[in-house]
Amino acid sequence: LAALGQDTPAVWRVGTEPAFPPFEMKDEATGAFVGFDIELMTAMAEAAGKEAQFIGLPFDGLVPAIQGKSIDAAISGMTITADRALTVDFTRPYFEAGLAIAVRESDSEIKSFEDLTGKRIAVAIGTTGAAKASSVEGATVRQFDNAPLALQELINGNVDAVVNDLPVTLYAINEANLTGAKIVGELVTEEYYGIALPKGSALLDEMNTALGTVIQDGTYAQIYRKWFLS
Ligand code: GLN
Repeated sequence: LAALGQDTPAVWRVGTEPAFPPFEMKDEATGAFVGFDIELMTAMAEAAGKEAQFIGLPFDGLVPAIQGKSIDAAISGMTITADRALTVDFTRPYFEAGLAIAVRESDSEIKSFEDLTGKRIAVAIGTTGAAKASSVEGATVRQFDNAPLALQELINGNVDAVVNDLPVTLYAINEANLTGAKIVGELVTEEYYGIALPKGSALLDEMNTALGTVIQDGTYAQIYRKWFLS
C-alpha cells in the first residue's frame, strides 16, 4: 500500500542492537540475527510481501540512524516514549514490558526503587533504564553498551543494582544461566515497545498493517510462545 503516493522499498533495512536476549541476539555459530523481534519483523515483512534485512547498531545509534535515514526502521525492544516520539514515529505497541531492579542474590538491603538512593547502579546506555537510574538521588550510574554487560557487572560485585527491562533480566536469570542475581520489588515502570521509523515515513502504514495481520493470523502468538513460554 503506497501512502501519499510514495512507494515503499522492497527491502526493509531494519536496525537492531543485537545484545538484548530474547528480543534480539546473534546466533553464536552462524552470526545470524535471532530472537523475538527478529522473527516478528521477518513475519511482518513476509505479510507485506517485502523482505527484512537486519543491521546491527549500538542502541543509542538507532534513533540517529533513523533520522539520517540510513535505516528504514528499528526494532530493538525500544520503548515508546514521548521524548523519542519528538524525533521518530512509532508503530502501534507490540509488547508490554517495564523496568525491574536486579540485585545480587545475597543482597538483603535493596528491596525497592527507593532503596537505590546512594547506590551504584549499572544500566545500558541510551535506555529508559538509564534515564530512570539517573533520577535516583546520590546514586552512581555506570553505563554499559548493553544489558548483559550491565548484569555481568552486578555479578562481578562492582555495582549494587541493575535497572533494566524485566523480560530481558528474567531471561538472563532463568534461561541464560546468569547465576547470583535476583529481581526485587515491583515493576518500576510500565512500558510498551514499538517499531521506530523516520517521521512521516510511508512505511508506517505498511508496518502497522503487517503487524495487525501477524497478530490476527496467530503468527505473533506462535513467536511469543517460542521465546517466552517454552
Ligand atoms: N526498552 C528499553 C528502552 O527502550 C531498553 C531497550 C534496549 O536496551 N534494547 O530504552
